[in-house]
Parts: sequence; C-alpha cells; structure tokens
Amino acid sequence: MRPGTSIALILAARQAIFSANAAGYESGSMREEIAVVEAVYPVPSDWAANALIDDTRYQEMYRRSVDDPEGFWRDEAMRIDWIRPFTSVKQTSFNEEDFGISWFADGTLNLSANCLDRHLATRGEQIAILWEPDDPKKPERRITYRELHEEVCRFANVLKARGVRKGERVTIYLPMVPEAAVAMLACARIGAIHSIVFAGFSPDALAGRIRDCDSRIVITADQGLRGGKTIALKACVDDALATCPGVDTVIVLAHTGADVPMVDGRDFDWALAVAEQSADCQPAEMSAEDPLFILYTSGSTGKPKGVLHTTGGYAVWASMTHEYVFDYRPGQIYWCAADIGWVTGHSYVVYGPLANGATTVMFEGVPTYPDASRFWQVVDKFGVEIFYGAPTALRALMREGDEWVARTSRRSLRLLGSVGEPINPEAWSWYHEVVGKGRCPIVDTWWQTETGGIMISPLPGATALKPGSATRPFFGVQPRLLDAEGKVIEGPGDGCLVITDSWPGQMRTVWGDHERFFQTYFSTFKGTYFTGDGCRRDEDGYYWITGRIDDVINVSGHRMGTAEIESALVAHPKVAEAAVVGMPHDIKGQGIYAFVTCNVEVEPDEALRRELVAWVRREIGPVATPDVLQFAPGLPKTRSGKIMRRILRKIGENDVANLGDTSTLADPSVVDNLLANRPQPA
Ligand code: ATP
Ligand code: MG
Repeated sequence: MRPGTSIALILAARQAIFSANAAGYESGSMREEIAVVEAVYPVPSDWAANALIDDTRYQEMYRRSVDDPEGFWRDEAMRIDWIRPFTSVKQTSFNEEDFGISWFADGTLNLSANCLDRHLATRGEQIAILWEPDDPKKPERRITYRELHEEVCRFANVLKARGVRKGERVTIYLPMVPEAAVAMLACARIGAIHSIVFAGFSPDALAGRIRDCDSRIVITADQGLRGGKTIALKACVDDALATCPGVDTVIVLAHTGADVPMVDGRDFDWALAVAEQSADCQPAEMSAEDPLFILYTSGSTGKPKGVLHTTGGYAVWASMTHEYVFDYRPGQIYWCAADIGWVTGHSYVVYGPLANGATTVMFEGVPTYPDASRFWQVVDKFGVEIFYGAPTALRALMREGDEWVARTSRRSLRLLGSVGEPINPEAWSWYHEVVGKGRCPIVDTWWQTETGGIMISPLPGATALKPGSATRPFFGVQPRLLDAEGKVIEGPGDGCLVITDSWPGQMRTVWGDHERFFQTYFSTFKGTYFTGDGCRRDEDGYYWITGRIDDVINVSGHRMGTAEIESALVAHPKVAEAAVVGMPHDIKGQGIYAFVTCNVEVEPDEALRRELVAWVRREIGPVATPDVLQFAPGLPKTRSGKIMRRILRKIGENDVANLGDTSTLADPSVVDNLLANRPQPA
C-alpha cells in the first residue's frame, strides 16, 4: 500500500443513492436493492440450541477477549498441547517506538505433534484426510491419523537425511494431493519453514519465491492434474532452477507416473527416498515464536510479499477459529475447497482441522470438471456436513444454471462458508437457497494471508445473517473504521478498516524485510494494523467489506467501492461475473469502466450492453452509470480466483504498456482478449 496516495474514504454506494435521490431521480428499484441488502436471516432455532456458541456466549466471550486478553488467551491456548507451558501471554505493540508482536513467547510446542501424535490414542483409526482425485473414475484415498503420522515421520526423516535443519526454508510446489499435507507437517515436525507455491504458477513466479526466501530444497511432483489437464510441474521446476543456483535438492513425487527427466545427485524420487527411512521421528521442540511458514500473498495488488507466520499463536488461532466458526464437532466430515497454495488451504484444509482431529476433505480437481455438479457430487459421496468455498467458484457454478446442483442431494450439508472476496448478495442467495436449500447458515469469513485465520465472521449458532456482510468480529479482534484523515468513525459509517490490537494469528514480519512489514501495515494510521480494505458498519454493528481501498472510484465527488457496482451487475439474470474499475474522465474526474462476463447461454450484443448500463443506473443510481461496458469471455484472475483489478485499471486508464507483474495470472491470454476488444467510450 502506498501511503498517502491510496488512502481514501469510501462512502457506500448507498450514500451515492441518497445523493441521487436528493437530485430527484426516480428510485423504485433502488428500494428493492436496499431490501435485498438488508434481508436478515435469524439463527435457526436448532442452531441456537445446539451450537457451541450462542449469542449470549458470544457476547460474554467477546467482552472478556477484549477486557481481559491475558486471561482469555491463557485459557484458549490450552487447546494446544505445549511441551513447556508459557508464562507470558501477550507482548504486542503497534507503535513505532516499541513495535513488536509476540504471543506465548516462552512456551514450546510442536504443531505436527498437535495435528497428529496427540490424536493417536483416541482417534488413530479415524480418517484424517479424505482425498478426492481430479478424475471421479479414479479411487479416492482415505488416510487415517495413524497412517498420516507414519508418512509424516518418514518424510521428515527424508528431509533430515538431506540435511534440512531447523529454520531452513523448504519450497513446496505440489498439487492437491495428501503428500502436500505430509510435506507441510514434516517441515513443522523438524522445525523447517515451508513456503508453498501454488502448483500452477509459472517457472518465473516459482523462481522468484525460491530466491526470495533462499531455499535450497524444492518438493514437487512429476505432473499435476486439474480439470482433466496435466500440468508439467517437474518441467516448471527445472526451468525455474535455471535461475536458482542455490537449490541442491529436488524431491519428486510420482503422481501421474509421467516419465520426467531426473538430474543425478539433485533429484530424488519421493517413494524411494521414503522407503529408506524409519517411521520414527521425534517432533522438534519449537518456541512459540519460531517461524512455521512463509506464504507469498497472491499478488492482486503488486509484488508478492513473503508473509511469515510463527508457531504458537498461529496454532491457537487456526484451531480456535476452525472450531468456533464452523461449529466443528469431532467426527464430522468437513471440506474446505481451497488449494493449499493459499492461506485458506494452510489454515483450513490442514492445520486448523487436523489440530482439531477432524476428517478433512482434500480435492484435487476443479468445480466444473467433468461437469458443474462435481462439488455437490463430492458432498454426496462423502456425506460432507460443512462446506467452505470461494465466491469465484460459486459465481462460476451459478453461471452454469441450477440444474447441475438440483440433480444432487446435498442432504448431509449443515453449514456453508465463503472466503476470499466479498460475496455478492446475489451469489449469497443462490448459495443459501439453491445449494443449501435454505437450511444451512452461511459463514462469510473475512480475513487475509496476513491475519493467519478468520477475523470477521458470523458464528452459526450466534449471529443472524445479512447477505453480503461478514457480520461481527471474532474473539479478540478489535476492528475500527477511520476516515481519510485517520479520525475514528463511531457507530454506523464507512471508512478504512484497521485493527487496533494484536491477535495470536497475526503475521510477524515480511520475510527478509521487517521495515516493509512496518511500513506496509502500521505506518498509514499510527498505532493500528491497516488492512487495506474499505468497510462499512451498519446500525447493528455489522461489518460490510466494500473492497480494497485501492479500488475506490471517485465519480464527480462521489466515492464508491467497486463491490457495490459489481453486485448490481451480477444481480442481472444474464450476468455471471463483473469487475469494475475507474477510468480517467474529463468531466467527472473518474468514470466507470465495467467488464462483464455473461452466463453461458447468453450472446452479448449492443442491446444487452445498453440494457446493463440502464440496469446499474436504476439499481444504484445515475452516479454509478458505467461509462464503458465491455463484454469479456473471462476476467484476469489470480490463481486463487481473485479478479486482478490492477490490470483492469491499466486497461481502463489506457496505459496498456505498463500492465505490471502478470506472473501470478491464472490465464494470461484473457488479457490479450480484453486488449483486442476494447470498446470506444460511450
Ligand atoms: P495481495 O495482498 O497480494 O494483493 P490478496 O489480498 O488477494 O493479495 P489474500 O490475503 O488471499 O490476498 O486476500 C485477502 C483479501 O481478500 C482481503 O484483504 C479482502 O480484500 C478480500 N477478502 C477475503 N475474504 C473476504 C470476505 N469474506 N469478504 C470480503 N472480502 C474478502
Ligand atoms: Mg492483501
């Protein structure tokens, strides 16, 4: 975040609506829009009665977490098995003079032992990982806690045999296979720091991350498999290593069995290496503040940062948020559909669920292969009770039509979750009604790579839901809204979202650049953690993330978050997805440039373009009228599925020579298509 330039106060689209109303515009359907936004779904009575946390308990616990953090966290940290108990709970300051963040500092523990060893006596034969392959005709894998423990120990011994020591960085470039979790837990077992790079990033992106954290070992597979297509992972590693002279060891998992060239003395076959090792490996005693992993942020806003998380606080946070937000009970089948290449996969596929002794589903494939029923077929196959996914996947499935969902049962589902982007009320309703048949609460969880785990979210037994709102803060999280001058906004209002005090799962530094850590997050508004997101708080104290502050557009003095305009577009029955950015405009200062992807059966034409422009004008108000509306078969997205507005902004600004780092794009050809089809301003 560039301090100064990007700090802008977001006023809700609603404010724009009011201005438009004041200017005398007709507002029939605006009232509808507000009605949709403000729909409230009370906690279902069976949830209120049976959940771990009801509203009274939430209020009590939240108050204690803020009034007596020492006591609260001392108790909550007992969910983790400590080797040496901590005496100090919290030493944190966001001020420049005494800046520092440490939690449970003198305690020691091992996270792999917390995820494995401690479960052996009680649930050794329970399935820990339920793996579903890309191809539904191939068999699934069911790995018990005992088996997982054994595999992790053997692989940890492989790493040791290759000379990997405590504190050393290990790069993991694996597809969604159980061995990815094995590699993570093996690192945690011996105190090595893992850095997972999404197995789909280009050789360049991989090389940059290997060099940045200076790792000399890479763990990969011959090939990945997604949506029926193979990804030449080993070949990417070979390419990347041409510019990474420090790497001396590559461990290669034979996943598809493809014939890949192996470099003598550098490359080792996973299975052969593991076969030589014993299944006995003592977990290393780690300090709470020893690093656990580095994860580079997805890069939607610029050069990726190596976000560093440490062991003790992260363990408490991942386990606790997983249990309370998903109301997790031992034995339930739980599925987080995120890739381990991003933080959701770290905290909610692997560490949180395994620390809690869960059965966690790991899915290799994509939502639309072989067809758009795939997610829900997997739900039926395993009897999934809790499903956690991303709005981008939901919108892709919505686009294909309801019948793909309707042909599955989904009877086992009791709770749905959303993460990664604001979920448009339209997509929320579809998720709730069509997927969950109106039976399942939705937890819309706001958090960041930097926060380690969920920060603002409903608790299903405690919180009435409003579609599109992440609702209320989790325990210990103290959000605050600030205006552009840094003045605190009390009560309902709109502003920059900051967090005023530390929480155990907070990142501790940017790898190799502590100054950048301070500058990025703590210098903009002194004494607080700056999230970079804009947010609105309503009369009930509910939080509504309005998008990144960078994405705010200012049309004739009206500041608008892009999320609201996008939601209005997506609410049109023919629209599947939309991205909105600002563009220079002679009269208005900034104009609105909308990129729109239509549902599969729709042929976009000039009539539809005009219809959509009029639709937004009616839904939100004349200030939100798009100046340019471009139909796009696809939008540029990061590998984790987020729209890269930074690139769209450049197109909007007609500055196409400077698109910036596109190495983390899922499909770079999408950009060529956008550039080739730019319409003339209306
Ligand atoms: P980079 O920081 O590299 O640009 P990124 O911010 O996309 O990438 P993440 O840490 O994965 O990387 O994403 C966190 C961001 O995603 C949040 O700051 C917010 O903008 C958005 N986000 C996540 N969950 C939600 C949610 N439930 N509602 C609204 N926005 C969300
Ligand atoms: Mg971010």
